[in-house]
Amino acid sequence: KMTGRNENIVIFPFMAQGHIIAFLGLALQIEQRGYNVIFVNTPINIKKLQQSLPPTSSIRLLEIPFNSSDDDDLPPGVENTDVLPPNLIFNLIKASVSLKPSFRQLISNLTNDSGGDPPLCIVADIFFGWSAEIAHEFGVFHSIFSCSGAFGLACYYSLWMNVPHLNSDSAAEFSFPDFPESGRFHTTQLAANMLVADGNDPPSVFHRKNLSAWSNSDGLLFNSVEELDMIGLVYFRRKLGRLVCPLGPILLPPGKRAGKSAGITAEGCIEWLRTKPANSVLYISFGSNNTISASQMMQLAKALEQVNKSTNFIWVVRPPLGFDITAEFRAEEWLPEGFIERVVDDQKRGLIVAQWAPQGEILSHKSVGSFLTQCGWNSVLEGLSHGMPLMGWPMAAEQFFSAKFLAEEIGVCVEVARGFNVEVRHQDIAEKIELVMGQSEQGKELRRKAGEIKEMIEDAIRDQDGFKGSSVKAMDQFLNAALLMKEKTKNGLH
Ligand code: UDP
Repeated sequence: KMTGRNENIVIFPFMAQGHIIAFLGLALQIEQRGYNVIFVNTPINIKKLQQSLPPTSSIRLLEIPFNSSDDDDLPPGVENTDVLPPNLIFNLIKASVSLKPSFRQLISNLTNDSGGDPPLCIVADIFFGWSAEIAHEFGVFHSIFSCSGAFGLACYYSLWMNVPHLNSDSAAEFSFPDFPESGRFHTTQLAANMLVADGNDPPSVFHRKNLSAWSNSDGLLFNSVEELDMIGLVYFRRKLGRLVCPLGPILLPPGKRAGKSAGITAEGCIEWLRTKPANSVLYISFGSNNTISASQMMQLAKALEQVNKSTNFIWVVRPPLGFDITAEFRAEEWLPEGFIERVVDDQKRGLIVAQWAPQGEILSHKSVGSFLTQCGWNSVLEGLSHGMPLMGWPMAAEQFFSAKFLAEEIGVCVEVARGFNVEVRHQDIAEKIELVMGQSEQGKELRRKAGEIKEMIEDAIRDQDGFKGSSVKAMDQFLNAALLMKEKTKNGLH
């Protein structure tokens, strides 16, 4: 019988908070199954992780040196997207290719340190397609772990593999020819670099090369659920003809949010939430990379002030677009005059959190009734796992596709706005908040659906009395495939 005892599994996420959080969740699950986990990242990220690993964990953190070059056009010393404005995030993605030689060296050292026995498996980020070649050089099973949902990633894959995807004389609508199941899209659902992609621009060149390298990988793992995300999973099974394993939702236990200091303590949030009726609080956060424009922020604040007074909110406010992302909190400047006094102090309807909130704790509280999110996949899964109907305000990358999927295919989301460039009106936002939080038929239907998804998710991760949910089985399948490859390599059959 195959066993993972004493086998090393190398975990290697891209340097973005959302990715590191999801990979850390995966690392903890793999560790629970009795494997040794080696978590690789750049020095600053490893340092932050040291503080957020549970004390009981024996995950080994390994640093890999990273020096961006002048070509990369990055501020010096940057090792994580969370300190970058949105327009520079791609630069860090592109620069991360320079990790290749040091990663190869790291695998070589690990192999030598174990007397020539290579790791069982490498689990790498979607942006690190190049790592498959290194894995195979050492006879190691390689898989890519997507922190995005399969539907969103399938659109993303199709888009970059087929640039230019927009027919110049077509109207604003388009679809993905090799992914017709995804339906029709509008150009407002494309992030800025996708909109202008013609095949020769740097993002097109990078992504096409990177995604092509996926076909060297042995498997594609998703932080997602078979029953929820079937359309996208089927797309990848058809496209890649590889093992495609939805293992999710993989969520970090509350309190373990990979190295960001929160603008408020979890206790502070819970204390405030305790004073609010069940399902009365809207939680608003745009994730770790994104923020809205100054005028959008004003309109959102006005909407929150205008809605039915029984609606409360927790809003994670990051500096609006154009401000230094680490800038000090300036409510007087960013929010309507007197907003804090009226809505937060007098009415006690809102809690404004600067920069970063303990999201896990907030979403698990019964007072929270809905989640306005940028539709980053971690946030989506965290919301759905708690049975939350979502309000979508996609900002970047595949978030637009995920928002459409959740609204149109699943029926658990209402889209509020798209991106940080559009003008929004507080009346429209307020109307949508009332629709989702209030007693309308549509609101009720959204909540019913959200409850159904919550159960679907619970079933997928159930591992009890001989019953194994789809995500548990998928994890077995992935680990067994890696063990089998190792066995074959040892016997010279590979
Ligand atoms: N997060 C958090 N507090 C915040 C904002 C985000 O704990 O104030 C966490 C959130 O719980 C999620 C992750 O950061 O796990 C964000 O990942 P997501 O995929 O939603 O979006 P991204 O940051 O990649 O855009």
